Amino acid sequence: MSVQRPARVVDGHCHLASSRCIPSEFFAGVADNLARKMTSQGVPADSAKLRRMLQAQYDDHGGDKLIAKMDEAGIAKTVLLAPDFSFVFNAEYSYPDLARQHAQVRQRHPGRFYVFLGVDPRWGKQGHDFFEYAVREYAFEGLKLYPPCGYSPSDEMLFPLYEICRDYGLPVLLHTGPTTPTLDFEHARPWLIDGAARQFPTVNFILAHGGVNFVEEAKLMCHYRPNVYLDFSGFPAAMVPGGWRDHLSGLFKQNILHKIIFGTDWPVFSMKDDLGAMVSGLLEDDGPFKGAPASAVEAVMGGTIESLLPSHSSNPILRRAADAPAEILLRSADS
Ligand SMILES: [Zn+2]
Repeated sequence: MSVQRPARVVDGHCHLASSRCIPSEFFAGVADNLARKMTSQGVPADSAKLRRMLQAQYDDHGGDKLIAKMDEAGIAKTVLLAPDFSFVFNAEYSYPDLARQHAQVRQRHPGRFYVFLGVDPRWGKQGHDFFEYAVREYAFEGLKLYPPCGYSPSDEMLFPLYEICRDYGLPVLLHTGPTTPTLDFEHARPWLIDGAARQFPTVNFILAHGGVNFVEEAKLMCHYRPNVYLDFSGFPAAMVPGGWRDHLSGLFKQNILHKIIFGTDWPVFSMKDDLGAMVSGLLEDDGPFKGAPASAVEAVMGGTIESLLPSHSSNPILRRAADAPAEILLRSADS
């Protein structure tokens, strides 16, 4: 039986390939691992040089290259995630800069991007206020958290941000699994979302990479917590003996297809696979969706993530914000 291509493909997990929003220390850790691997294979490698090479590839500050890749791959719309690393790393961009950059990219390519903005909870009230301002002023659709920066996703200091998400109907996407070795892996486990998911039952939480890292935990959380979902971004790099096709075939047969969200994590694995190859590989007739109903393929490949996003026309708070003159919103955020 052939797998029917969904009418609409939405990438639920993607980043702007811009070195302005990813600090150098993030790349440094990635380069260290790469250098270690290359050296073990007898290829002379210099970590600092590799870091500079990686960074040089992140030059798509306006998103034009990404749009061309999305068009090639048949991706209608993409969720851009903007994690805030500025609390732990020296960063070129603060979280307000990140917000402005992503708002500009979205304006440059109308109708192609959703944005989930990150704010490290340790910025306190000024961070909460700015996040709410960005939701109202830029109409961003979600919150992106990066717990390996050093906090549990159920820490009470996040609750003011979760309250904003609850009031505006926004989902929260959090990184799970290891990351660059210059960060802490301690808070990367899916299980840690349990306290927050229980405390905020009307907020939907998405375990980023939950289909690839700590899969057992992520799967159980999705099965038993109504408001927890997972994405399988990063799948080309899944560390499984049979390769990612076998791995996803298994995952897709476990009765949680209604909780699974397609995401690529572009450009993180761009050296391994192109966006087009990722989408076509997933939708091959003998691929991981083999035997799945067409409605489930539609849901995983875009329907579910879009169902979790706020609808600006039906949300009274967001509708009012959209009607308010921009300068009033700017003034209230500055004060
Ligand atoms: Zn990511």
